[in-house]
Amino acid sequence: MPMPDVTPVPLSTLTTLRTGGTPTALIDAATTDELVGALRETWASGDEWLVLGGGSNLFVGDEPFEGTVVRVRTTGIERLPSPRPGYVRLRVQAGHNWDELCAYAVSAGLAGLEAMSGIPGTVGAAPVQNIGAYGQEISQTLVEVDLLDESTGEVSTVPASELGLGFRTSVFKHHYGSAPLRRAVILTVTFEAAEVGHEKREVVGAQLRAALGLQAGHPVSLEWIREHVLAVRRSKGMVLDDADPDTYSAGSFFQNAVVSASFARTLPDECPRWPLAPDVDPVTIIPLAAYDGVVAPPPSVVSDVKVSAAWLIEHSGLRKGFKLPRSRAALSTKHALALTNRGQGTAAELAELARFIQGRVQSEFGLVLQPEPVLVGVEL
Ligand SMILES: Cc1cc2nc3c(=O)[nH]c(=O)nc-3n(C[C@H](O)[C@H](O)[C@H](O)COP(=O)(O)OP(=O)(O)OC[C@H]3O[C@@H](n4cnc5c(N)ncnc54)[C@H](O)[C@@H]3O)c2cc1C
Repeated sequence: MPMPDVTPVPLSTLTTLRTGGTPTALIDAATTDELVGALRETWASGDEWLVLGGGSNLFVGDEPFEGTVVRVRTTGIERLPSPRPGYVRLRVQAGHNWDELCAYAVSAGLAGLEAMSGIPGTVGAAPVQNIGAYGQEISQTLVEVDLLDESTGEVSTVPASELGLGFRTSVFKHHYGSAPLRRAVILTVTFEAAEVGHEKREVVGAQLRAALGLQAGHPVSLEWIREHVLAVRRSKGMVLDDADPDTYSAGSFFQNAVVSASFARTLPDECPRWPLAPDVDPVTIIPLAAYDGVVAPPPSVVSDVKVSAAWLIEHSGLRKGFKLPRSRAALSTKHALALTNRGQGTAAELAELARFIQGRVQSEFGLVLQPEPVLVGVEL
């Protein structure tokens, strides 16, 4: 099969942080066959490779990328029955735009993705860091993925339970995480969503209610949630907008730090912190057919806590909009966690700012913030 090669362009034009040199080769794969064919051919050549979705979670270095970039451009949503009454499955091609999937689910009256409206990028990249927002994350609705493994060159279906999904991590993410890395490319992603229709319902999750300014017991529709999530995100520069340099970012550049409860006690009381477990209201339903007279033990208590990286940055003396002298990299003027490229800034300038922030937070609070985006050809 002929490879759908295109003339390589600098990765700074394909990533939302707007950095990155030109790759040796660039392939645009618009069908699963093209994607599988391009990957097998690239792997057989032994060259370096990088799979690219929307480029919204990548921090790429300034040097040319000596290898092949395969851009995933497959699209399509299939609606399938679910074995669970009241639910349906959505099998989505990896290159499908994430927010378009959220819009589809909301308009079809399907719940489970609405709080993640407005997250940039593709569906295939979503499991890579178990994307999430306002207490909802895809591990809550993800059933399985079809993927192509580099080690075997074969396609297999892998259940969500084997993907090492954790807080902004999975077996696919390169630079940290306890589960061993799996070099694979996701071809399709299957979600299970609840058929709730367009009626107003109480919002599940205290974090989402707080972000939307809702009291418990106040019912709203899925459409209302999507619209208001998008508005909140826009006000923080967290929805891509060419006209707004505060969105020339990779979203949150640093992860909220996960620390032990005893370390968290050494931080000032005002530093926001959350329990590590996903924020879902505690309801355990055992289907009658599966009930064998034994009630499952209560979930074990996780003592680690997540602390706000944005708070740590701001309280180490770095305000929104902060930049180093003569640098074209700056903190967003709307959100202290987003490092932004103010136009033609290089990866070196962004890395210098990132290291400066890490140093300030470490000397003030004794912990090293870890980057959230995937780093390619650049080190912090
Ligand atoms: C303004 C802004 C706001 C954001 N807000 C959020 C947020 O609220 N929550 C959140 O979790 N994230 C957020 N992000 C981060 C980002 O949008 C997500 O991580 C998104 O899933 C990345 O998708 P992408 O297609 O752009 O991935 P890319 O940046 O193209 O790739 C990211 C990584 O995934 C790999 N990858 C891409 N496609 C595949 C595939 N098909 N199979 C295997 N690996 C693949 C790449 O090789 C790379 O390692 C935000 C980013 C921006 C710019």
